[in-house]
Amino acid sequence: MYMVSLDFNNLDKNLIRAWLQEVDPQKLNYLWEKADEIRQKYVGDDIWLRGLVEISNHCVRSCAYCGISKCAPVVEKYRMSEDEILTAVKQAADYGFGTVVLQSGEDMGLTATRITEIIRSIKSKTGLAITLSLGERSVGDLEDWRKAGADRYLLRFETSDVELYKQIHPNTGRQSDRFVQLELMRQMGYEIGTGVMVGIPGQTWGSLANDIWLFRKYGMDMIGLGPYLENEGTPLAGELGKKLKNSATADQVPNDDLTTLKVLALTRILCPNINIPATTALATINPEKGRSHALQRGANVVMPNLTPHKYRTLYQIYPGKAGLHETAEFSREEIERQIISLGRTIGRGAGTSSHFKQHCH
Ligand code: SAM
Repeated sequence: MYMVSLDFNNLDKNLIRAWLQEVDPQKLNYLWEKADEIRQKYVGDDIWLRGLVEISNHCVRSCAYCGISKCAPVVEKYRMSEDEILTAVKQAADYGFGTVVLQSGEDMGLTATRITEIIRSIKSKTGLAITLSLGERSVGDLEDWRKAGADRYLLRFETSDVELYKQIHPNTGRQSDRFVQLELMRQMGYEIGTGVMVGIPGQTWGSLANDIWLFRKYGMDMIGLGPYLENEGTPLAGELGKKLKNSATADQVPNDDLTTLKVLALTRILCPNINIPATTALATINPEKGRSHALQRGANVVMPNLTPHKYRTLYQIYPGKAGLHETAEFSREEIERQIISLGRTIGRGAGTSSHFKQHCH
């Protein structure tokens, strides 16, 4: 077992793993301070607000963890109309957000043409930066959307452990290689975001250390991190989860906020100039402090939810999702209050990742 080193210049996979397993409060305080210092030095005090619109809960995949996947207990399905999407986007613009994030299950009903038209309308009516998070799509779709004006794409690789990935992403006849799609999107000029869930049954300390290592190796522009949250009725909450946990034995990573925050802080230290959101999953597991802790340990982005209320409860990728019953207005005010109380500032404009600006332009 490696000991942590207070010198972060030579952080390798073994030292990352040692930090992930560290429990000494003094050493952890040092980690938090270092991550916050690096965040301040490389990306400043601005916190970027992105309006999140969950445009459809249809999905062709059977991801074993997800509440809207094909294998989850039946949820009423919805797909927002173009008008509904534009109304939500207009709200983001009125609130002064510089970016909208359109997220959905992998929904082939959201055809290339339909999304292209939506991107064009958003650009012509609001000029906002657009992040897509629509799952794995064909090269043609991704090219069309980029040409229409989409700026960024979020696709978490979830875990770099190939065997674990296969178990939680069963092959449903559609090939799944998220690293390939991420690389293609980079070549197309997208700002690319990825990330993992922390504490997936079967995830070991070594594989989580490798995930963090890969964030830097692949030069990602944004990283989203959240604890895995168990979803009753999904395969991972049942026998599959038990089997995977048993296989990891004592090496199983816990799905708690402390471990997620360690991953976040180490990611900031290794990838100083990327964007890192304080995710809803962290605010769900620790409603009181999850978001503010993330913002004090390396995060610089928050994504207030602007999905219309009638659809929000149907986009329950995990139970008890934070902000489920709040109005968009309330979530925004609450988040802005929190940012100010932390002595930080609200970013104005697109909030493009400094890493992207440095490497791609
Ligand atoms: N379909 C797209 C995709 O797979 O990238 C976007 C939507 S998907 C619901 C967005 C993210 O939700 C996933 O990348 C996953 O990390 C997260 N997620 C899904 N189920 C979760 C769970 N039970 N606990 C924590 N995060 C979860």
